[in-house]
Amino acid sequence: MGIYSFAIVAHSGAGKTTLGEALLYRAGAIDKLGAIGAGTTVLDAEPEEKERQSSSQTAMAHFTHDGHSVHLLDTPGSMNFLGATMGALRAVDGVILMANAEPGVQSETELLWEALEQHGMPRILVINKLDKEQADFDARFDNLREIFGTRLIRVQMPWGTGDQFKGVLDLVEMAAYDYSAPDKPQKTDIPAELADVAEDLRYQLVESAAEGDDALLEKYLETEELSEEELRQGLVAGTQQGKLVPVFCTAAQTTVGADRVLQGALGLLPDAETRRRQRQAQEQVPEGYAPESADNPDAAALVFKTRIDHYAGKLSYVRVFSGTVKPGDELLNTTRGETERPAHLYKMVGKEQVEVTQLAAGEIGVLPKLSHTHSGDTLSNPKHKVEFPPIAFPTPVLTYALQLGGKGEEDKLGAALHRMIEEDPTLQFSHNAETGDFLINGMGQIHLELVLERLKREFNIEATLGQPHVPYRETIRHGAKAQGKYKKQTGGRGQYGDCWLELKPRGAVDGLEFHNAIVGGAIPKNYIPAIEKGIQEAMGKGVVGAYPVIGIDATVYDGSYHDVDSSEMAFKIAGSMAFKKAMEDARPVLLEPILELEIVVHADYMGDVMGDINSRRGRVLGMDSRGRNQVVRAEVPMGEALTYAIDLRAMTSGQGYFTQRFARYEEVPAPIADKIIKERQAAMGE
Ligand code: GDP
Ligand code: MG
Repeated sequence: MGIYSFAIVAHSGAGKTTLGEALLYRAGAIDKLGAIGAGTTVLDAEPEEKERQSSSQTAMAHFTHDGHSVHLLDTPGSMNFLGATMGALRAVDGVILMANAEPGVQSETELLWEALEQHGMPRILVINKLDKEQADFDARFDNLREIFGTRLIRVQMPWGTGDQFKGVLDLVEMAAYDYSAPDKPQKTDIPAELADVAEDLRYQLVESAAEGDDALLEKYLETEELSEEELRQGLVAGTQQGKLVPVFCTAAQTTVGADRVLQGALGLLPDAETRRRQRQAQEQVPEGYAPESADNPDAAALVFKTRIDHYAGKLSYVRVFSGTVKPGDELLNTTRGETERPAHLYKMVGKEQVEVTQLAAGEIGVLPKLSHTHSGDTLSNPKHKVEFPPIAFPTPVLTYALQLGGKGEEDKLGAALHRMIEEDPTLQFSHNAETGDFLINGMGQIHLELVLERLKREFNIEATLGQPHVPYRETIRHGAKAQGKYKKQTGGRGQYGDCWLELKPRGAVDGLEFHNAIVGGAIPKNYIPAIEKGIQEAMGKGVVGAYPVIGIDATVYDGSYHDVDSSEMAFKIAGSMAFKKAMEDARPVLLEPILELEIVVHADYMGDVMGDINSRRGRVLGMDSRGRNQVVRAEVPMGEALTYAIDLRAMTSGQGYFTQRFARYEEVPAPIADKIIKERQAAMGE
């Protein structure tokens, strides 16, 4: 009787949701098997998931099986929703990794594997879709073993394939499971024609299992055999330490093998208590991070997902790591220093909330209507403050400008996006006052398109994605002097301001350095700040393309005034006029923002990626290897990298990813600057 938590992880389309549904059905948690095509699964419960027939969130389902309490998380898989998967990995004690038995590149699997390694996550692997015509279990197994190494070890082999797929052979029990009637799998003898292959694989399995445990290895070397019990023991030890990854076979859609996977996961992966002891033994536990002890009665939980439901309101999905959470308990959000008091607790089966009277260490559940809490926050007993390390949510890489249907929608938009960002830490939103763009940043095209769909459905806001304006700047390359004279002295009170400015370049740095070098009172002191203000204002729109000007050193060194007609306003205008004239003569240039990219790709794609960086006017700063991947650091002008998230994925069949940060401003080469300025003039003329 243990508490278990598993996340199903794989590239999208591998059959995670289908397998999750089959597990729930086989465990009796649901009495009708849902199907992706019909939009009837409990795990893909959101309207956008049903519509696209693809998960975009982590769904949770709790059930009991053989007296065990099982918390299952179905993750989305796609890199567009990597944030949800990263959150789920912090909530579980083991992973069911999946791959598709059909041929084809499944490069996202490598990225996900890397994340599992980082989390030190015990895992089993399921090769799915063995009922498909093209399915080839051995080819997929060999391919994955080549990538991930000899830790992958078959504990099953398929019995037939394609429309002949009738069941699985269990290499531990050396028995066959016949699913000719999927609802009533029959255990039988291994068919004679597969006996030799099964013997061979069993031999390999025994050898691998023995290697996981010194005592077993000794026994094996002496007797060349292990009992079924010893074999199982070796497999459990190897799997829980991450030294072995047992491989299973399924056709999830018809539930073939699903019950055996559930059995395998419960038998091989650690329960919460085992994993807690492991975590404490293996990892450096930071100070104040000691709640994970069996006898610690103080509650500590990590929020790994937030969902704002149309009817139920805000739901915070938590994994409890120590103690017990009860309704009405006071919990301190140690990440934000705010107190929360959830009135109810739920476990979920897809969208259905099942009220519970407590959530104990190892369990996953939902706390409704917390006021201050976001994904990644820690909730703990106020008397024993604990803060878990933050969840490694990925940073968004794709930016678009949102184009709104109507004017009045701007106000509605702010509130709507605020709510969505609370749910999804990989979404960012900002308003650029300079360009007027409403910028939205996300993980990829599909991620952002889905945001638009939800804006429409839930908030009735129509928006489309457009290219953002690049925030260009201007500066000067030479020094120059000029006079600004503002004089209106016809009738009534006149206006008079007159100043001489000297400009010098300061490089591509922000702001204005202003000096007053007036001696002998050519301009009275009280007008000097007005001149500076005039320059500041003029710098808002430079002479090249009306972009903001940076990197200016300006000195006012001469001028004249009029006793009656001079005013602050007149000197402000004079300052602004002098600046514009001097800037014209100071070789003004256009500057563009340069991004520093860190790109991670498989070595096979390096040539293409480097060539592409060059064609974007970029330069490579350095290269490194990280496992089987290469890391390229490069600088690329922002204007050439607006769709890089999409282009890189296309170039690397979905495998490459990158992060970016602003590096600095640099001068735009003349022919390109001419083109940018022409486009700008055309746009401003409209
Ligand atoms: P996920 O993205 O990993 O969650 O994959 P889904 O569970 O949504 O499955 C993707 C598609 O593959 C759906 O159309 C499923 O019906 C189908 N599918 C999943 N498992 C199997 C299987 O074992 N056999 C067959 N033939 N189709 C499957
Ligand atoms: Mg899915």
